Amino acid sequence: MITAEILSMKIPSQDLKRQYKSIQNEIDAVVLEVLAQQSFILGPYVESFENSMANYCGAKYAIGVSSGTDALLLALMACGIKSGDEVITTPFTFFATAGSIARLGALPVFVDIDPATYNIDVSKIASAVSGKTKALLPVHLFGQCAEMDAILEMAQTKGLYVIEDAAQAIGAFYKGKQAGTMGDAGCFSFYPSKNLGAYGDGGLVTANDDEMGALIKALRVHGSNTRYYHEYVGINGRLDALQAAILHTKLKHLNEWSEKRRTVATYYDEHLRGMPVRLPEIMNGNTHIYHQYVIATPKRDLLKEHLSEQGIETVIYYPVPLHLQKCFAYLGYKPGDLPVSEKAADEVLALPVFPEITREEQDFVIEQIKDFFTRK
Ligand SMILES: *Cc1c(COP(=O)(O)O)cnc(C)c1O
Repeated sequence: MITAEILSMKIPSQDLKRQYKSIQNEIDAVVLEVLAQQSFILGPYVESFENSMANYCGAKYAIGVSSGTDALLLALMACGIKSGDEVITTPFTFFATAGSIARLGALPVFVDIDPATYNIDVSKIASAVSGKTKALLPVHLFGQCAEMDAILEMAQTKGLYVIEDAAQAIGAFYKGKQAGTMGDAGCFSFYPSKNLGAYGDGGLVTANDDEMGALIKALRVHGSNTRYYHEYVGINGRLDALQAAILHTKLKHLNEWSEKRRTVATYYDEHLRGMPVRLPEIMNGNTHIYHQYVIATPKRDLLKEHLSEQGIETVIYYPVPLHLQKCFAYLGYKPGDLPVSEKAADEVLALPVFPEITREEQDFVIEQIKDFFTRK
């Protein structure tokens, strides 16, 4: 039954205040500790967080950087991507994936997605490889890994780098391996709404190769290993101590939060099954961390409006695939070129999924979706 109390409920797509309240003592203490130190750029808090992240991911190197976008930029720079090179990626992702390629003067080459997982369709990569292709940049979208076996095999055959955009997939597994540790470099974002979110911008690059690790480390401080001596032209791309200390504190809770997200997702799965919406599909061998729980329906816009009227916030990731963005008009793509991505952009809707969401709130979301489809 829908009670008056539930009717007045506002359900956000996520609620960072609830998370903060649950760990406020730990966070406040560590923030005060950093303030007392008055040492803000890199330093021991960053190093200690990097060690824990390397350990968590099972990567040899974990390098804290200023954002997920800079993680991508630094990884591409470390692979020597430059003007005129081509990098193959997906158009169904956050802008930064392709934006970082373009910022280096390289060309993003978009390959359509698999309709089941929304990740790059590996069967379509081979025909996109040209003599100018230097790297593959798969994205582990919404929290589940792309088909890495096929991607790594293709890279090996063609002599290409693999950079994983793992911004949405921290802690996700693919056939026993962690997101971000399978390619030459793995890029993570600590944007506040990510599964491991900072209280500002932050990111991280993982690598296993010694040379790659050292290069990324130098590139994030203007290409310098010794202060004021520059071997490369790098960027200011450092993680700061305050964010590192906060992230380190939150990292201890990450697996528990991921588990809660999975429980929330399973509950949606069970109760939305049979309704005329496409539910998330998990590829064999994948462990999903549900950065987003995304359903799809041709009636998406009406459903979104209905839920919004009921106080339920939903989000469209992403309304315009990157090959049709205005800024990429120079690449020459037109509507219809990548139909699976375009259809996804018209039909996807992310439901509220965060570790602290209550059963009562979830029941209300489910009830309202049911209500929408039975009324129509
Ligand atoms: C969030 C995100 C990024 C960029 O991360 P920022 O920290 O916001 O710069 C890159 N790629 C994907 C897929 C993302 O979701």
